[in-house]
Amino acid sequence: MKRPILIHPDPRLKKVAKPVVDVSDALRELADDMLETMYDAPGIGLAAPQVGVMDRLIVLDCIKKEGESPRPLVMFNPEVIASSEEENTYEEGCLSIPEQYADVTRPADVTVRWIDRDGALQEETFDGLWATCVQHEIDHLEGKLFIDYLRPLKRQMITRKMVKLKREMARAG
Ligand SMILES: [Zn+2]
Repeated sequence: MKRPILIHPDPRLKKVAKPVVDVSDALRELADDMLETMYDAPGIGLAAPQVGVMDRLIVLDCIKKEGESPRPLVMFNPEVIASSEEENTYEEGCLSIPEQYADVTRPADVTVRWIDRDGALQEETFDGLWATCVQHEIDHLEGKLFIDYLRPLKRQMITRKMVKLKREMARAG
């Protein structure tokens, strides 16, 4: 089932999410809903706070090339345990900040540890778009958005656009 995505500014997008203690059926269902919502948007990552759930859960799939099979990843309590000194700059966007993009510089490679959909501990090193995406999603669990990396003026400009967009959406019902 698709879930509505919160649009910035929203206080829930600024909160720190709570660690998941037990991977329950309800949380697995939430993860499946989030994947469906993400693919439908379409997007390459989604964090639980973006659908208003304050649990440490993200989903992602950064396969973009046509013909490549999808690789949906579900991560509970994801944690960056190592990051490279080398950095990478990508033009980032966010499903909670529609149609706004900006360059963000982050470590090029990150090793992430997480609990998967079956409750098993996983660890993997990501690079390229996957590294950017997983860091962007983990930031959401800390109440941090990609626009928080931008200069205040640019951030305020985007936020004003979003306030206007939300007003228009509310009017349209
Ligand atoms: Zn985002």
